[in-house]
Amino acid sequence: MGFLEKIGLKKKETLEKGVEKSREGILNKLGKAFVGKDRVDDQTLDELEEILITSDVGVTTTLEIIQRIEKRVAKDKFVTQAELQTMLREEIVALLKDNDADKPAEFDADFQTKPHVVLVVGVNGVGKTTTIGKLANLYKQAGKKVLLGAADTFRAAAVDQLIIWSERADVPIVQQGQNADPASVAFDTVSSAKARGSDIALIDTAGRLHNKKALMEELTKIKRVMGKVVDGAPHEVILVLDASTGQNAMQQAKAFTEAVDITGLALTKLDGTAKGGIVIGISNELNVPVKYIGLGERMEDLQIFERESFVNALFGE
Ligand code: GDP
Ligand code: GDP
Ligand code: MG
Repeated sequence: MGFLEKIGLKKKETLEKGVEKSREGILNKLGKAFVGKDRVDDQTLDELEEILITSDVGVTTTLEIIQRIEKRVAKDKFVTQAELQTMLREEIVALLKDNDADKPAEFDADFQTKPHVVLVVGVNGVGKTTTIGKLANLYKQAGKKVLLGAADTFRAAAVDQLIIWSERADVPIVQQGQNADPASVAFDTVSSAKARGSDIALIDTAGRLHNKKALMEELTKIKRVMGKVVDGAPHEVILVLDASTGQNAMQQAKAFTEAVDITGLALTKLDGTAKGGIVIGISNELNVPVKYIGLGERMEDLQIFERESFVNALFGE
């Protein structure tokens, strides 16, 4: 077992369990659509289209997948359900690869700068703080010196929640309590990371809507202040999206990526939803890579997004 499997980043069982609801939904509908058939006809393709759309893959991506399947079955009409499923898996993986020129997501702890600064953004309740706790644990497991920054000073419980995660992951935290200036917390965190020789600083922010001008300006200010302390900071800006909101997550992703320089996406709460197809739609339609997926509330429930294993888990038997 490699290191990444050991720390849970690529555990097949965790992934399969995490997307169980989505998979069951898809397979159930697929079984019904295929009952009594031994070939793929127009009706099967229509039903397949509906299955993908109702699984939140999204219209654009669904049509691209159907086109690919159509081409394949034009040559090869007689297929079993199992063969169709395999075809579906292969074509989705190929589609995602075609649309993703850069390298597949990896867990990268080989930082170019010290400290490497990561800012985590997104709307309220999507799982930002939880994802930071999980990431803190991963980097710590990878032998890195981690520092957390509690720049969500808006809600009373927000700082306390991050303190709890810092204890769980056993990493230090910089905080100034509720109502402190978030830019000041960000400044302190990055300065402290530099002084202590931290490898990575993970900074939490208050939930914000892309259409709230003041909050977006605050984010710009936080970013500018970080850059004063460490060149090029923040080096990563992770947008967290709640996958269980389906097409809503897609809308947020589009709006945020237009407003902020997002470097990667984290899609959370896949375990509680049948809308797991959204990961495929977002991965296909946006230029920003899906880096992480959240598969539960525990510290171990975060994985690196790998197209092939994800599609296999979602459309497997
Ligand atoms: P924030 O407001 O964006 O910081 O969101 P939080 O990190 O506070 O998370 C909001 C809620 O979602 C909490 O109850 C978390 O436990 C829960 N949560 C976060 N990620 C996941 C996940 O991957 N799966 C599940 N089931 N719950 C999650
Ligand atoms: P502004 O654009 O005029 O507000 O000023 P700056 O760009 O210099 O700083 C923006 C924010 O960064 C300030 O409001 C502070 O919260 C924070 N900041 C800048 N310098 C320091 C510093 O030396 N210490 C701390 N704690 N925060 C600082
Ligand atoms: Mg939070």
